[in-house]
Amino acid sequence: MMEQYHALKAQAEGCLLFYRMGDFFELFFDDAKQAAAILDIALTARGKDSGEPVPMCGVPVHAAEGYLARLIKAGCRVAIAEQVETPEQAKKRGGYKALVQRDIVRFVTAGTLTEEALLEPRRANMLAAVCEVRGIIGLASCDISTGQMVLEECDAESLNAALARIGASEVVAPEGWESVPEDAIERPRADFSSDEGERLLKSLHEVKTLDAFGDFSRAMLAAGGGLIAYLDHVGRGNLPLLLPPRIRAGNAQLAMDEATRASLEILVSQQGGRPGSLIAAVDRCVSGAGARQLADDLSSPLCDLSAISQRLALVDYFHRDPLLRADLREVLRALPDIGRALGRVVAGRGSPRDLGQIRDGLAEARRIRDFLSQKTDRPPLLDALLPMMAGHGALVDMMQRALIAAPPTERSNGGYIAEGYDAALDELRSVSGNARRAIAALEARYRTDTGIAALKIKHNGVLGYFIEVPAKHADPLMSADSGFTHRQTMAGAVRFNSLSLHEEAGRINEAGGHALVAEDAHFEQLTSAVVADRQAIAVTADALSRLDVSAGQAERAAESDWCRPEISESTTLEILGGRHPVVEAALAKSGDRFVANDCILDESDRLWLIGGPNMGGKSTFLRQNALIVLLAQAGGYVPAASARIGLVDRLFSRVGASDNLAKGRSTFMVEMVETAAILSQATDRSFVILDEVGRGTSTYDGLALAWAVVEAVHETNRSRCLFATHYHELARLADSCDSLSLHHVRAREWKGDLVLLHELAEGPADRSYGLAVARLAGIPKPVVKRAKSVLDKLEKGRAETGGLAAGLGDLPLFAAIIEQEGTQDTGILAQLMETDVDALSPREALELIYRLKQDA
Ligand code: ADP
Repeated sequence: MMEQYHALKAQAEGCLLFYRMGDFFELFFDDAKQAAAILDIALTARGKDSGEPVPMCGVPVHAAEGYLARLIKAGCRVAIAEQVETPEQAKKRGGYKALVQRDIVRFVTAGTLTEEALLEPRRANMLAAVCEVRGIIGLASCDISTGQMVLEECDAESLNAALARIGASEVVAPEGWESVPEDAIERPRADFSSDEGERLLKSLHEVKTLDAFGDFSRAMLAAGGGLIAYLDHVGRGNLPLLLPPRIRAGNAQLAMDEATRASLEILVSQQGGRPGSLIAAVDRCVSGAGARQLADDLSSPLCDLSAISQRLALVDYFHRDPLLRADLREVLRALPDIGRALGRVVAGRGSPRDLGQIRDGLAEARRIRDFLSQKTDRPPLLDALLPMMAGHGALVDMMQRALIAAPPTERSNGGYIAEGYDAALDELRSVSGNARRAIAALEARYRTDTGIAALKIKHNGVLGYFIEVPAKHADPLMSADSGFTHRQTMAGAVRFNSLSLHEEAGRINEAGGHALVAEDAHFEQLTSAVVADRQAIAVTADALSRLDVSAGQAERAAESDWCRPEISESTTLEILGGRHPVVEAALAKSGDRFVANDCILDESDRLWLIGGPNMGGKSTFLRQNALIVLLAQAGGYVPAASARIGLVDRLFSRVGASDNLAKGRSTFMVEMVETAAILSQATDRSFVILDEVGRGTSTYDGLALAWAVVEAVHETNRSRCLFATHYHELARLADSCDSLSLHHVRAREWKGDLVLLHELAEGPADRSYGLAVARLAGIPKPVVKRAKSVLDKLEKGRAETGGLAAGLGDLPLFAAIIEQEGTQDTGILAQLMETDVDALSPREALELIYRLKQDA
């Protein structure tokens, strides 16, 4: 057995090996130690290997899913080795002592799960494959629980942003590729061939050409090939559901890089979970599929005016009609997750319950369609969705006749095919039903015959049917002419058989066996009908989730008075009475009110410099405006009184990089790398929020960098930008930058206490409130007092020398400095000014910063 084990382990590619032994999966050696620790189960030993006891642990097969889930969560991958023949077959093949043949039947990995128990209903589970073809990176991603597959292209610089958008649980890449993403699983290079990818896709979807699905590049096909090859590998030749691939065009989406996503806390908060994230504050979907669609919408907001308007019109439609919305949501809430049930059925792991769910879901979809098509004034998107929900009539009809109302998850016991669907099956059932009644009659008769009132006919897995009497009554039945044969003596009871019982039991077994075979055949037939219709079923599931998202967005909007944003091709950003949905919700819990604020940017006033005390609400204001843009371009209502938004092509957010230390880079370095990315990528259609740039270094460096960055964004990138800072000196930029204005969050000192008003006002911050904030935070009074006297000294010094910004009054204009190239000034600022920021790659920017630091 150990030999067989080691051979399988060698094929397991470093995965934990689940080795099937009867009713258990067992793990040995280091696998056992690792799994026992993660699962908190007993580590024992079994037999010996080279004289040493073999560490072992095991999990029962019927409960394996739960254990698998925990192992996958802990970052493990698991290979499942099943018995591929019965012990009887093994004996026939190799004699009495022959070992049952085992094989790895599949790998369970984070990105390739389909089991309901292992998946979160409201989150897609993504697998991604990346590779490079002649300098272009192809990216394939899919959610195999629903079969959605997307192909796209990107360049080396935007790869991380794309991977962050997809949020894959698992990434595969070619072995030895120099740009292999962190934690990616390396697969043979040959898997990533575009020819092979094209061939696989064609054969998978049974088409001669892929033209109907889109115009795929070599890089996309190669990545697609790598993805399918990997799925084929982990499923050991069993491919899961894959729908025809869709192309994601780079410029159709609002671009956001990894850092922006993290700082806006779109799907996960900085704490790492869903609570506190944007989606948690927005999601009112009533179905898991809707929630997954919403997550996708928020991860990749659109950049296309007409697509956004279509979504908004549908939200508006449900917003205007609360009764319709309530009705629809009630129906959707009860709807099974068709997409995922379909995923399991196509993967060959479907249960009768999955078929039942597909049946009910499709039937319901048709009713929803009929109901909605009676409505007037339907927006175009709704008209496009309605036909997607129909057309499964024959399939639904067949499944309604074939399956019982609530089919079980377990297939092996049968009983899920409805009566009246198959006359032969009904006949078999009546035979066993008659036999069961005959057995009940036997029991009654034996009781009278023997006079033993406690006599019972029972059934168990080992003996089948038997007659049981209490031990004290057993003697008369033991005699040879009693008609009973002894089978087993227990502590308090004795068990017998009889000829009649044997005959009836035989009938039940035989009919039962035939019935199971018949049900199995129907199951296969229904499964193949579903598989054949898989694309249309997936389309219906999509339409339902879009309805759920739209109705949910309308519901959310109605809850807290959100408005429909007005989107245009302009470069305006006018948000009146804007609010931060997450902060507002948090404040509401403690009974506090959120103070709404306006943000009005346009061509003549594109950059707002925002000062004011810490805790005054600067970051909140910055983020709320970014989130409003994001929500609007995802096609939803926004938390504001009104919003006019000129389409944003890229969104950048740099808010407090201080939490990134875990990655081993200094805060300042992270901040600079991220800022460099903005300076090189932001356009005049982008929206940038920058919080406290320069905070992570010495005051002079920091001020100088903040100064230069503001100038660059203002002059070169010309993006719409909100820039929060505590450097008062930056206020002087208002003199030289035409389209920049000064703002601050208001605060007041009242009876020696600081009152933060969280209200934005025009003009520079009048003074610093650092000490007041410190007191608010509970710094001991003597320390604050001491700080006050230090501050007085410093301010006196400043008054005498002109202070930190003493020389800045004479600083030439940004544009002027660029013309001065080649002059003596080698100061940090001058070097920065000389730099053509657009031409810098992030790496070059990093090097520049190193150089600047050295000069400093
Ligand atoms: P800053 O960036 O100026 O240090 P934050 O934006 O982090 O300040 O805000 C600090 C706290 O103030 C927030 O956690 C929130 O509780 C509160 N706050 C911020 N903005 C508002 C607002 N508009 N209305 C009410 N409370 C707010």
